[in-house]
Amino acid sequence: MTQPALRPDVLLNVMPDVLIIGGGLMALATALELRLRGASVTVLSRDRTEAAAYAAAGMLAPQAEGLEPGPMLELCLRSRALYPDWTAKLESLTGLDSGYWPCGILRPAFADTPPPPELQNRDCRVEWLEGEALEQRQAGLGAEVVGAWWFPEDAQVDNRRRLVPALAAAVDQSGVIWREGVEVIKIHQCQGEVTALETNDLETNKQIYQAGHYLLAAGAWTGGLLEAAPVTPRKGQLMALRPALGVESEIGMPLGQVLFGDRIYIVPRQDGLIVLGATSEQVDFQPGNTAAGIHQLLTEAIRLCPALGHYEIAETWWGFRPETADELPILGPSPLANLSLASGHYRNGVLLAPITAQILADWILEGKAAPLLQAFQWERLGL
Ligand SMILES: Cc1cc2nc3c(=O)[nH]c(=O)nc-3n(C[C@H](O)[C@H](O)[C@H](O)COP(=O)(O)OP(=O)(O)OC[C@H]3O[C@@H](n4cnc5c(N)ncnc54)[C@H](O)[C@@H]3O)c2cc1C
Repeated sequence: MTQPALRPDVLLNVMPDVLIIGGGLMALATALELRLRGASVTVLSRDRTEAAAYAAAGMLAPQAEGLEPGPMLELCLRSRALYPDWTAKLESLTGLDSGYWPCGILRPAFADTPPPPELQNRDCRVEWLEGEALEQRQAGLGAEVVGAWWFPEDAQVDNRRRLVPALAAAVDQSGVIWREGVEVIKIHQCQGEVTALETNDLETNKQIYQAGHYLLAAGAWTGGLLEAAPVTPRKGQLMALRPALGVESEIGMPLGQVLFGDRIYIVPRQDGLIVLGATSEQVDFQPGNTAAGIHQLLTEAIRLCPALGHYEIAETWWGFRPETADELPILGPSPLANLSLASGHYRNGVLLAPITAQILADWILEGKAAPLLQAFQWERLGL
């Protein structure tokens, strides 16, 4: 794909076509899509490192998540289908590896696991494995595992170390103006329209920003800027393990695919790092890893895959999922005519980045509302 030339109107003092609030996946993926379609775009990001994309496990798991048939499953499946082309585009724009790995996901069951939700989907491949067939797919599962669902089309992406850097580089190179460290303090409005964004930007002596259109994509912090978009934080703690010297060959690791358990997921990266996630806590924006959180991850991971008990702890971290009352994202129009929304992606925001960028660009630039958008309107949340 050819990159659009930098237009003179993307200079800082000229009003851009679109101003985006946020520095996470939704902000960056949509900024890039808008820019590649010819719009001038400015991104105002308080702190890109606090984005959930730096915390997530990177599973692309519409089937393993057991989503009920309906618009959300549809949205997730469509986004999963976009992933190979979307990541190939990022790679060709930047020359960087995106970390996309279509490795499939295995969802093991214990004898006491409640029956899984309806996991079959009309168009997707799924298989129940046990005994020899399961052993061949993945050796070394815990003795209590009685079988597993195998979803060969689910996948993963190394979001922290590969995808986010590749996307950020593509955004930088595309000519998007990215103001890092700039916090939007207030969305000024008059007669049903945004008139300006007030920021803390002292560096450029430009605290007021204006644009033709605005996009609010501030993740778990969205609700603090706009009451009509009630998104709240759901904390998750994660950690990474790496094989201790010599252990890998002894126990037949590494894992060949993601293991998706009931209170744990185990996500092996291609270089041998193993990500364990994640707790689910309603503790507002309380930072940090706790003993109980790490205990849960290790206990469940070792139950599922005992050999992990011999691994070394490489790192621990945490992040905030942007949650809504019905666990669905808010996409498209807002109560303000020139403000759009892309937030509340909760547990599936890494998966949903490509489809969100596409749908939002269609909406913002062409006023085209995909039929799927209907299910994700802000009005459904009753404010
Ligand atoms: C523990 C955990 C595990 C996860 N695992 C997965 C997974 O396996 N698969 C999957 O698909 N998804 C997963 N997710 C979900 C996914 O990470 C999120 O849904 C997605 O990253 C949200 O992206 P976002 O852009 O909406 O928000 P964020 O990435 O949180 O970005 C919000 C950005 O807005 C900025 N901001 C906030 N307020 C302001 C302001 N006033 N002014 C300027 N900037 C502001 C912040 O600094 C931040 O950079 C996980 C999330 C967590 C936390």
